Amino acid sequence: MRSSDLVVRLIEGIKWLSFPPLEAYPFILHGFIIKNQIFPPDVKTKEAEKLLQKAFSQKRRLVSLSQIHQDGCVIITSKDKLKRRYKGDALLTDRDDIFISVWVADCLSIFLVEERRRVVGLVHAGWRGTLLGILRRTIEAAKGQFGCEGGDFTVLFGPCIGSCCYQISDDVAILFDEECMNRAQNGKPGLDLICANLKQLMSCGVKRDRIFVTGKCTFCDEKLFHSYRREKENAGRMIGFMGLR
Ligand SMILES: [Zn+2]
Repeated sequence: MRSSDLVVRLIEGIKWLSFPPLEAYPFILHGFIIKNQIFPPDVKTKEAEKLLQKAFSQKRRLVSLSQIHQDGCVIITSKDKLKRRYKGDALLTDRDDIFISVWVADCLSIFLVEERRRVVGLVHAGWRGTLLGILRRTIEAAKGQFGCEGGDFTVLFGPCIGSCCYQISDDVAILFDEECMNRAQNGKPGLDLICANLKQLMSCGVKRDRIFVTGKCTFCDEKLFHSYRREKENAGRMIGFMGLR
């Protein structure tokens, strides 16, 4: 696994992050909206979507998810009639007239690019989705639907709550590999979401040197990120998005 820089950019007053390993693919559009005044924590979803579309891609429709912490992956091909919102926690597409998004505040967003078949995907994974294997299921769905191969994927783990701050109960900790648990806080288990999801990538044939991680903890870095654990119900959301040009 390699580390990725974060490049802070500004467009129409919206602060967002761009990731150099994904910038290497000129055929995709990607970004991660961070804390900023244009998207206050209480912004209405519809309003945020409108702003996002205006700033980043006026000719593409933005597609988002009603996220439910399960393992459903929505596949959108050119044959599908488009909806603005789907129920599930992952999206895959080979269409160039939409861009897809996931909304997070501590949970892990995972960016997927399969360069040979020109497929992009986004996954939302907290502990529940991770336990259900949502990332593995999404890669397997891409193989089945588009003929993708594990070795042709580039994967980037976005900022999420780190094992430094993601304390979970013993009942939950026991469900995960001990290797993915950080016990530095008085032995209380802190879950390393990236470790647990990395195992899923390995089982799908994704190459280690094509996996990138930002290494940022959303709880620790109050300046850049919202955090559900830190801000509770008042937490805003970050938005990861991706599309084909
Ligand atoms: Zn932390």
